[in-house]
Amino acid sequence: MVASDVLSKPETTCPVGHFTVNNPSNGAVAGYAPNANAGDLDQAVRAAQAAFESWSQQSDEALEAACVKLADLLEAHAEELAQLVTQEQGKPLNGLGSRWELGGAQAWARYTAGLRLQDKLLQDGNEGRVELHRKPLGVVGSITPWNFPVMIAIWHILPALRTGNTVVIKPSPYTPLATLKMVELFNEVLPAGVLNIVTGDDKSVNLGAEMSAHPGIRKIVFTGSCATGQKVMQSAAETMKRLTLELGGNDAGIVLPDVDPAEIAEGLFWGAFINNGQTCAAMKRLYVHESVHDAVCEALVNYARQIKVGDGLDEASVLGPIQNHMQFDKVNRLVEDAKIRGDVLIGGSAGEGLFFEPTLIAGLKNGDPLVDEEQFGPVLPIIKYSDLDAVIAAANDSPNGLGGSIWTKDIERARDLAKRLECGSVWINKHGAIQPNAPFGGVKSSGIGVEFGEEGLNEYTDIQVVFS
Ligand code: NAD
Repeated sequence: MVASDVLSKPETTCPVGHFTVNNPSNGAVAGYAPNANAGDLDQAVRAAQAAFESWSQQSDEALEAACVKLADLLEAHAEELAQLVTQEQGKPLNGLGSRWELGGAQAWARYTAGLRLQDKLLQDGNEGRVELHRKPLGVVGSITPWNFPVMIAIWHILPALRTGNTVVIKPSPYTPLATLKMVELFNEVLPAGVLNIVTGDDKSVNLGAEMSAHPGIRKIVFTGSCATGQKVMQSAAETMKRLTLELGGNDAGIVLPDVDPAEIAEGLFWGAFINNGQTCAAMKRLYVHESVHDAVCEALVNYARQIKVGDGLDEASVLGPIQNHMQFDKVNRLVEDAKIRGDVLIGGSAGEGLFFEPTLIAGLKNGDPLVDEEQFGPVLPIIKYSDLDAVIAAANDSPNGLGGSIWTKDIERARDLAKRLECGSVWINKHGAIQPNAPFGGVKSSGIGVEFGEEGLNEYTDIQVVFS
């Protein structure tokens, strides 16, 4: 059975050798995905190795043209893929939901298609010629999480293929359906073996762990939690794989005293609640100066009041459910604990099924679990501060270092303060903005390496220097 049979005609019982994917909005069956074993993975790696021979020899123009075709396919099938993302992930079609994710995926695909590896002539004179070349690695293993299943897959696949590598991708067991469909579409135009997919339920066999250890894979690009990223790094060491690790974050937002609370409320809200807070670079804790603390809290509550949470397929919804039970339980545990320590300004309760009200909790401090841990859900702790040096220290007091933001009318001052934040991205008067030409990655425990732009592209290559 091929993926399209499973996706287009959902059966009433799970076909043999498959696992069920449920819609988090209502628990209904979203589809079935093949439950691959280690032998299936091995076959995919061998197919990718065989295809590498000719794919890596393609001209730069041919690789660019192939990647442009993938961007075209994404555009042509955007609505179909968005519907699948909503059914398996839960995020709404509208707002910053699945249609927005598909728009982002297309933008990244097109931009990455147009990127070019930069060979360099380091020296050419009496003392000889020295050239720097960039060469593809071989088979790249891509392991993706459940929060942005299509966009993150594109962030992995496109630069790998563009630089002449072949790929085996493994999506999250919670959200394999849109990735299966996308790979099937891409394989209509790619040579056999260039792009392969394995899906599994992570129960009988952990395909991600198998990939990290597989000797036929030369690089792992992994997006997911810090704990799993560490395991990937440990097992990748055996075969000296190249690694890009995009891991968790606990981004701080810092509001200075000179802001207009009503003006920044919308940006603060979406900085934290994009994708229901299930976003690596969402704002996960908000520090507000005491002079504007109450006004900022009030403006945020007013904004949150008009947010429509509901079934992702309902065109009126702008936030959906939490994606899965494990994540739901984590959010619930952190909120219950925070209720003892702080003041719930809005929300604070679970709804039906996996729904959880957008929640703002003030009166918290560093050391409280909701402030220290990555909640990855629709809840934002608000911390009052009085001293700027102390708040910078509090923001940096985290093993994570993905992003951070500063909210003020004084942009020059914010640019200076940005230098003191220990994180890969700093935003001023916004949070979480990314773009395809700007390298994105975490420092400290938030990851290794970057994605996007020329720097991201280079991570799919080894350097060879030729002296003559
Ligand atoms: P996760 O670590 O649980 O799973 C990610 C992927 O790893 C899944 O495909 C899973 O099947 C696979 N996996 C599980 N065990 C593995 C193992 N032992 N070896 C290799 N792979 C294994 O993460 P998640 O819950 O799917 O995603 C949420 C996390 O991802 C959050 O911490 C979030 O911050 C992070 N994230 C980071 C970025 C970023 O760019 N920095 C982007 C999105 C999400």
